Amino acid sequence: MTGHRREEPYPSNGELVQRFPGEPITHDNAAHYRGRLRKQLLVNRCDDCAIWHAPPKPVCPECWSANVTATPVTGNGEIFMNVFLHQGPPAPGVDYSTPYPVVTVELEEQVGLRFTATVADADNDDIRIGQAVRLDWRERNGAPMPVFVLAGAGA
Ligand SMILES: [Zn+2]
Repeated sequence: MTGHRREEPYPSNGELVQRFPGEPITHDNAAHYRGRLRKQLLVNRCDDCAIWHAPPKPVCPECWSANVTATPVTGNGEIFMNVFLHQGPPAPGVDYSTPYPVVTVELEEQVGLRFTATVADADNDDIRIGQAVRLDWRERNGAPMPVFVLAGAGA
């Protein structure tokens, strides 16, 4: 009998939780976190209507299809909203004496598709709404963390 073979996710759910201590890993976002380990930013996309959505949900918000697949995005986009945290949860490498930038970026894949992360290697004065950014990665707790860097700045 050739049954439907269920693919074993790698790493396992238990290992995934260990790699991202303190992160709210759920069945819905596990694929996103597995992508991070490969330095791939994955966003759910509907196989039926091709609409992207974030944060990840098991059903397409547009057509209610359950055929959604975590799919890589370029990570290119424009800053839609920015905030600077003067205090927050302690995290390695985060020093709130310089306010910690958090930006919501509208990704180039789709109008209204947004992802929130920090900005690395930028003066806070240069982090402005409408600024073009691209995706980069930094280590956090030994696991890759998606960050944005200002497009055209540095390398
Ligand atoms: Zn859909």
